[in-house]
Amino acid sequence: MSNRTFTMIKPDAVKAGNIGNILQMIYAGGFRIVAMKYLQISKQQAEKFYEVHASRPFYGELTDFMSSGPIVAAILEKDNAVIDFRTLIGATNPAQAEEGTIRKKYATSISENAVHGSDSDENAAIEGNFFFNGLERF
Ligand code: GDP
Repeated sequence: MSNRTFTMIKPDAVKAGNIGNILQMIYAGGFRIVAMKYLQISKQQAEKFYEVHASRPFYGELTDFMSSGPIVAAILEKDNAVIDFRTLIGATNPAQAEEGTIRKKYATSISENAVHGSDSDENAAIEGNFFFNGLERF
């Protein structure tokens, strides 16, 4: 089990002014920030990042959305990081997310769901490497 996960605060949550609120919940959840940047990705970069979803019907919509405005990308550290962060963010669809989760509070729909969280240690490493080099980690 690795102690790192990868997250993005998605364009909807950035636009709504919720970067600070979400970072506060991440800290309150016991996570340490290893790396962080504020940037906008291109449609092509979003397609590469979400390659595993290429055959899903929402791939076009998802990659349009993720390249539509700035995001905050970060690597987070905590024991059991991947699973604990998935618990903190809640279900993909905010209508099904538990009370007190980031998505329950800040997501507006299944597509515009405020935050990303890696679903495995392997993907956490791949996704972190997509955004950050060794000099950008602390
Ligand atoms: P996650 O791991 O909880 O983020 O969920 P998935 O890996 O299943 O999906 C990745 C992302 O695709 C989600 O966070 C949503 O932004 C988006 N997504 C998932 N399902 C749908 C859907 O039915 N429609 C749309 N438009 N987007 C979706």
